[in-house]
Amino acid sequence: MACQTCDEAVCLTSGVYVIKYGYMKSELFPYGAQYYRTPNPPSTDWERDLREMKAQGMNSVRLWAMWSWIHLPNGEFDFSHLDRLMDLCSQVGLKTLIQVVLENAPPWLVHAHPHAKYTSMDDEQIWPMGRPNTPGGGWPGLCLDNPPASDAAAQFMTALASHFARHPALLGYDVWNEVWFELDGYIGPQYYCYCPATVAAFKEYLAGKYSGLDGLGDAWHRRYTSWDEVYPPRYWGGYPDWLDWIAFRIENQGKLLRWRVDTLRGADPDALLVSHGLPTTLGSMATHLTDDWRNAKEVDIYGLSCFPHWFNYQDIDTLEVHDLVRSASSGKTFWTAETQAGPSGEGLIHSRTPSPQDIRLWNWISLAAGAKGLLYWQWRPELLGPESPGFGLCHLDGTPTERTEAASWFPSFVGAHPEIGEHKPLKGQVAIAILPESQLFAHVAEKNAGKYSQAVRGAYRAFTRAGYQVDFARIEQLMGYEMVYLPFPLMIEEKSARMIAEYVQSGGKLISEACPAQFGNGGHVQVPTPGYGLDEVFGVRAESGPQSIQDDIPTFQWNGRNVGCCVHRQTLTAVTATVLAEFSDGGPAITENLYGSGRAMLVGTYPGICSEWGWQDAAPMLGDLAAYFGLSPLAHAGDPEVVVRLQVRDESVLAYVVNLSGDTREAHLRISNSIGDFSVAEDIDGGGGAPVDGNSFTATVQGRDARVFKLIPRYTRKDVVI
Ligand SMILES: [Zn+2]
Repeated sequence: MACQTCDEAVCLTSGVYVIKYGYMKSELFPYGAQYYRTPNPPSTDWERDLREMKAQGMNSVRLWAMWSWIHLPNGEFDFSHLDRLMDLCSQVGLKTLIQVVLENAPPWLVHAHPHAKYTSMDDEQIWPMGRPNTPGGGWPGLCLDNPPASDAAAQFMTALASHFARHPALLGYDVWNEVWFELDGYIGPQYYCYCPATVAAFKEYLAGKYSGLDGLGDAWHRRYTSWDEVYPPRYWGGYPDWLDWIAFRIENQGKLLRWRVDTLRGADPDALLVSHGLPTTLGSMATHLTDDWRNAKEVDIYGLSCFPHWFNYQDIDTLEVHDLVRSASSGKTFWTAETQAGPSGEGLIHSRTPSPQDIRLWNWISLAAGAKGLLYWQWRPELLGPESPGFGLCHLDGTPTERTEAASWFPSFVGAHPEIGEHKPLKGQVAIAILPESQLFAHVAEKNAGKYSQAVRGAYRAFTRAGYQVDFARIEQLMGYEMVYLPFPLMIEEKSARMIAEYVQSGGKLISEACPAQFGNGGHVQVPTPGYGLDEVFGVRAESGPQSIQDDIPTFQWNGRNVGCCVHRQTLTAVTATVLAEFSDGGPAITENLYGSGRAMLVGTYPGICSEWGWQDAAPMLGDLAAYFGLSPLAHAGDPEVVVRLQVRDESVLAYVVNLSGDTREAHLRISNSIGDFSVAEDIDGGGGAPVDGNSFTATVQGRDARVFKLIPRYTRKDVVI
């Protein structure tokens, strides 16, 4: 729906906030911070703090609605604290995002339904308690596979959304904070949930997937005579049962997200519904149950939490997690839903305090990646529990810090330049293909998916530093990418293999790391290898399994670069492929095959991991392989520490030039002719224009800072027509 008067999807005047376009209008580019989570900050400070936020240029604020605090027995609800906060926000001129928090349960509900507690693989029932992010208790709540718990939670969400519908301060609801399974790793290395309701739901899932008990027996290689004999795995070991148990848990979490959306939508059809995730889809999917692609489909706007110092990020990692959520959002608006504002951690040791320069660079990275909004976590430092006294953008007493001042520059900058909100990122040239099954297989095989995430990260860093905009793409999204890189593809399901083959067949350029489809559906070894017809796509056969790398490390050379194997070396025989490089002790190291209209390259080890493990030539080698396939970046600075990102609206082009290094850099920028023919690069912040010669120009960028240029075409459309 749109505003009846102005036909805009987002209209501050009418209170219509449903997003229909791929970008948010500039007047509602949210800049703000998380403010309230029961029981802090104290109510005596609320009005002063909210006025200070507004004075610092913020336009949005997030408030946590805690189920355990609000939902009273006998169908009663106490919204009095949120009523006052919402009214204050309205008076001050701040829009509010209400955070729906079900990861805490009212004490009376826990007492009434003790069987609904989460149950670990050791049959421990988890008694709700206080946790770092839930200092008021009730965490982790009850297992929502149990109808008494989910019915009560639905009543709470319905009451909440009905109560605040059309409140003048309401921006919308964040339906699930970080959409992950919060118990993971908190009470030792336990898996969940083995309560009777979840186990029953798992059996239903299996019955549907395998069309009955016999089908399940065939898949798991068990002789079952009754569903009563079926139970989920608890301890490390089997492949098919563990892969199914994890896949079920991920799917079940997706159903819970949709249920939250549907419940809130039912109570307030006009409300903007957003959510955000921890950026752990590419490493901890098996235990966090995170899937950014799944989540982004369910909500109007999806986002991420980003705590660079807490999570020990390099600056390029901050860009990576934004690119991940941008990619997962598949063209939908996305934003930085939480970004680190102060020292962050749990217990006595927190991360170092961000500097004003950190705050500045993180904002630039968010904007350059295409995020259309940013909230800090959080305005005031936490005052209770293991997160205290960390996380604040302000001093303990709520007065501004130098970080607050650095943060306040951006809302005024974005407000003065509506084009920031209106331009959208281009589609990347290079896609890193994401195979959830291979990540889950890596987890099931080793109890963690570290090697998978290292392969992905190494490839991302390599192509980014070579000047490419990297997208992450699920297998069903590969079509249209000039080149696809397939990291750590040990397990490929049959349907994924078919789509990979179709991509190459239709003209795609594919580079795969070692051992594609070594394992197939259910974790079964494929013979021949690569499985499911990928042997023909790559034009090779592997007569034996991968050789684990011990002390003797085979190396190979490409374009004068020397790279050693990591984890595995795959021993290949070229059938129709051409051998481009050989291992030092013989045998193909890189092969290339023509298949249909496309080209498929296979590297006999994992260059992404090699790069992460210190083979310095591995990352530039990946850039060289892209060049071998005929790629060149759409925009680059020829400096691995300077990232250039293009955003477009119709024929208008913005170039973000982000210097990730600590030094001032004179960047020599080159824009591809396929983007246009430009005469001037104009700094939109008034830093002057640079003449563009042959689509190249020079720009000086301070260390850990950025500039945004509007690229002025040499000819207008009218000139071209004449
Ligand atoms: Zn359960």
